[in-house]
Amino acid sequence: MARINQNYLKLPGSYLFSTIAKRVKAYEEAHPEAKIIRLGIGDVTQPIAPEVISSLHTAVDEMGKAETFRGYAPDLGYAFLREKIAKQDFQARGCDISPDEIFVSDGAKCDCGNIQEIFGLDNKIAVCDPVYPVYVDSNVMAGRTGAYDEASGRFEGVIYMPCTEENGFSPELPDEVPDLIYLCFPNNPTGAVISKDKLQAWVDYANEHDSVILYDAAYEAYITEENVPHSIYECKGAKDCAIEFRSFSKTAGFTGLRLGYTVIPKDLKTGGEELWPLWARRHGTKYNGAPYIVQRAGETVYSEKGRREITEQIKYYLENARIIREGLIAAGYQASGGVNAPYIWLKAPDNLTSWEFFDRLLDEANIVGTPGSGFGPHGEHYFRLTAFGSRENTIRAMERITKL
Ligand SMILES: *Cc1c(COP(=O)(O)O)cnc(C)c1O
Repeated sequence: MARINQNYLKLPGSYLFSTIAKRVKAYEEAHPEAKIIRLGIGDVTQPIAPEVISSLHTAVDEMGKAETFRGYAPDLGYAFLREKIAKQDFQARGCDISPDEIFVSDGAKCDCGNIQEIFGLDNKIAVCDPVYPVYVDSNVMAGRTGAYDEASGRFEGVIYMPCTEENGFSPELPDEVPDLIYLCFPNNPTGAVISKDKLQAWVDYANEHDSVILYDAAYEAYITEENVPHSIYECKGAKDCAIEFRSFSKTAGFTGLRLGYTVIPKDLKTGGEELWPLWARRHGTKYNGAPYIVQRAGETVYSEKGRREITEQIKYYLENARIIREGLIAAGYQASGGVNAPYIWLKAPDNLTSWEFFDRLLDEANIVGTPGSGFGPHGEHYFRLTAFGSRENTIRAMERITKL
């Protein structure tokens, strides 16, 4: 008899975004005339930049000619892409990362979710609370946690690090020492960033305790403020304790094209074992990388013209974020984020729960957002709005919220 992986049964039945979709659908059926504005989406909406599209066309044509056809991509990804990444994303910022420390992949979700496979099941993980659910869920599936407790919204055996108004939504060093520490900055869902000093303290802590930091920098390109680190490798000693994830999804609109990468420094060891060969082995065994044409598209993001076009898209989203944040604050809400991230994090008024505020916003303003409680217990009473809508809808949504 085949038996299932019992760990999957620990996951709560309904996924946040399917619950939202169900509620919105029910509302639409009851109110067919309602003009609903979606500010809950965690996906980009602008089309791929023209220069990137042009490189895709060229690469597609190459695949149709015997002289330029390409089959399987190299395990780590094409050198033409890894060299640009190393140079522009890291060396240009003073980070000593070389092309052979970069593993090109089809996205950060897979990498963030799969990286735990190279670590033993007896590792204790720590996560920001609230945060992107992939880190906890992938460890639940692997069996690195206990059961889910409905009342507290927590899995047993996981260290939740509260990100609250008091600590500027960036967690304190935990008393109980974790083995694996997931950090995500700029953060989804709070839009908060971590200062360089504070990140350095995390790196020092990890080196002191031989912990590994898994640093998700998927929103790095949204950073606008000085003294906010773009990469964990801007901190001294990070190459001895940290893995970093990046994505072309929110940066260049590749959510449908699929491209990301993971950095594993050659020096990185835990318990005396090097991690680079383990991930290389896993990559070689379970993974075929990203398609040639997509890696060419990724390369174009680093060209002068590509970079310029991408920067315009990010500016567009950041302007939406500004409109939302300032609109909320003017309307008397407590709101943060949106300066270095496409997410605005607001406190539900009148002590409403996240879901009560979700219903009020849908009912009275026909706006869909994301309940903060879906990202962790400390997300309760908070709410996420995203800057990925059109300018017109963003402005209209803020007019409606102001009138609430
Ligand atoms: C969207 C998102 C990702 C996913 O990136 P993909 O490359 O599209 O898989 C990773 N991390 C965070 C925090 C995200 O919000």
